[in-house]
Amino acid sequence: MIADDEAWAAVLARDRSYDGSFVTGVLSTGIYCRPSCSARHPRRANVRFFKDGGVAREAGLRPCLRCLPDDVSREERAVLMAIEAIKAAGQNLALADLAARCGYSPTHFQRVFARATGLSPAAYARALQKERMAEVLSGAERVTDAIYDAGFSGPSRFYAAAEERLGMTASAWANGGHGVTIRWAVVPTSLGEMLVAATDRGVCRLSFNEDAAALRARFPNATLEQGGEVFARLLAQVIAAVETPGDHSHIPIDVRGTAFQEAVWQALRAIPPGETRSYADIAAAVGKPGAVRAAGSANGANNVAVLIPCHRVIRSDGSLGGYAYGLEIKQRLLDKEREANRG
Ligand SMILES: [Zn+2]
Repeated sequence: MIADDEAWAAVLARDRSYDGSFVTGVLSTGIYCRPSCSARHPRRANVRFFKDGGVAREAGLRPCLRCLPDDVSREERAVLMAIEAIKAAGQNLALADLAARCGYSPTHFQRVFARATGLSPAAYARALQKERMAEVLSGAERVTDAIYDAGFSGPSRFYAAAEERLGMTASAWANGGHGVTIRWAVVPTSLGEMLVAATDRGVCRLSFNEDAAALRARFPNATLEQGGEVFARLLAQVIAAVETPGDHSHIPIDVRGTAFQEAVWQALRAIPPGETRSYADIAAAVGKPGAVRAAGSANGANNVAVLIPCHRVIRSDGSLGGYAYGLEIKQRLLDKEREANRG
């Protein structure tokens, strides 16, 4: 069961990705809702969270007629069934066929599928094909490496998250940097050892407390070279950007993600230094207000710290949330920016 604070934040954000993981009981009205219910929010004092509709009914509550909380599992089953069918076919299937298999009308099913996945069935099929291609190119071993690199505790957790992100590939560089020369250096900064790596198009990795081996694992097929004159100039700009916050949008970056990830990264770059946004803000900024968790995943998949300022995203309750390089660095980056703003 999710902690009450997280559950309440999900309710306030009407975060659809939590539908099915708990229900919101409203003691004053005697009904229970799915977290994303569009009805006016109840007062926190009147709310109690239940594992599912069954437990809420045992407590004497009735299902909300607006959001039909007991239909979540039916919808989930339908979406999973459709996903299985698309996977098995290896291509998109006609919407009418998918809907009929799951017992929905086409328009209703399209809505149910999009609510659960953030994508239409057709877009899901395309994303799936793209991901399969990436897996073939990168090889099974490397997918497994990528799972651990991405910070997941194990493959099943990863595949669960990948399912959530639906075809949004776990490794931005599907072919491991084949045919690409990457120049890199590790330099001391006031935030600790910083690794900067760049292709001839721009910075492709900026991280803290990482070494050459980690870089090699990310780009197993690239030619890694230290230093170089052009790189040295870029490196100086990057160091200045980290030490002296401000507008560093002139520094070229070379990242590759899914359309959704790239939209999130763009939204992050639009946050002014020293300011912060919530995951819900970012999801809304990319036009997918229901995709709060997916926005969080895209934020976490950022490979270029600081220049794509994922440190400017915090929890909606104002607490820092997570950071790939530790909360201390996140806090110090924000502090530095606020100091610079005060001039
Ligand atoms: Zn409701």
